[in-house]
Amino acid sequence: MQLVNTINDLRQIVKQWKIDGLEIGFVPTMGYLHEGHQSLIKRAVSENDRVVVSIFVNPMQFGPNEDLDSYPRDLDCDIDICKQESVDLIFHPQVSEMYFNDFSTLVDMSGLTDVLCGKSRPNHFRGVCTVVNKLFNIVDADRAYFGQKDAQQLAIIKRMVRDLNIDIEIIGCPIVREEDGLAKSSRNTYLNEKERQAALILNRSLMIGQKLLSDGERNAEKIINAISENINREPLAKIDYVDVVDSLSLKKANNISSSCLVAVAVFIGKTRLIDNFIFEI
Ligand code: AMP
Repeated sequence: MQLVNTINDLRQIVKQWKIDGLEIGFVPTMGYLHEGHQSLIKRAVSENDRVVVSIFVNPMQFGPNEDLDSYPRDLDCDIDICKQESVDLIFHPQVSEMYFNDFSTLVDMSGLTDVLCGKSRPNHFRGVCTVVNKLFNIVDADRAYFGQKDAQQLAIIKRMVRDLNIDIEIIGCPIVREEDGLAKSSRNTYLNEKERQAALILNRSLMIGQKLLSDGERNAEKIINAISENINREPLAKIDYVDVVDSLSLKKANNISSSCLVAVAVFIGKTRLIDNFIFEI
């Protein structure tokens, strides 16, 4: 496995792979890899001749009061996991390699980015779209793998690729959870013991919504209320949002008539956690 820090080095390697007719899978991450990332990597390895994992904590997608500086990092451990999963190349650029001092081009999107997480993280998805676009241009992969855990991000990336005619297949992968149901996340490491227990409220409350939908409830407000009421029973939890939206357009669903995304963002103490499920009709 190769560890590459510069765009030029990466391009030379990819160029040779292309000459050799090899198909390339790409898994963009911010590192501190866990089984969620690993599931994406496993799928990429199984479907491609070569796999690139990028590890880059992208400053552009963090707000001024967010956790850019404290975001967990452990490159040695990430390298071990990637080796174990037979990754061919880790791309680990410095911020200065990715952004010139006078960097001035942004990839922005309206509509899908203004709802759900976009409401409380105003420029977050602009940062995500910009860096993912850059990474797609740099890696030139055939397929890229994203987790359903970040459902809004996945919908936005699919839309961006469609709108900008980027020649890459986007593959969504299911949420990987801890045994007790908490969605795996690098940010779970911020939780103390009490908060870790309290964090179970996200998945448990979503399951109430899932049950209502399975039983035939189609009124989004009722589902939102049932989930919110349950989350509010947990003293350490503070709701950022609970919402039901169309799973492709992310437009608000009132009477649910097509496949919908039920998504929550909840502060547990100071840590903001997200979770969701898709209900297919
Ligand atoms: P991150 O390092 O948080 O930027 O995540 C990198 C990729 O891993 C994104 O596509 C995430 O959606 C995906 N991911 C993170 N956690 C999980 C999880 N628990 N299950 C599935 N995919 C995940």
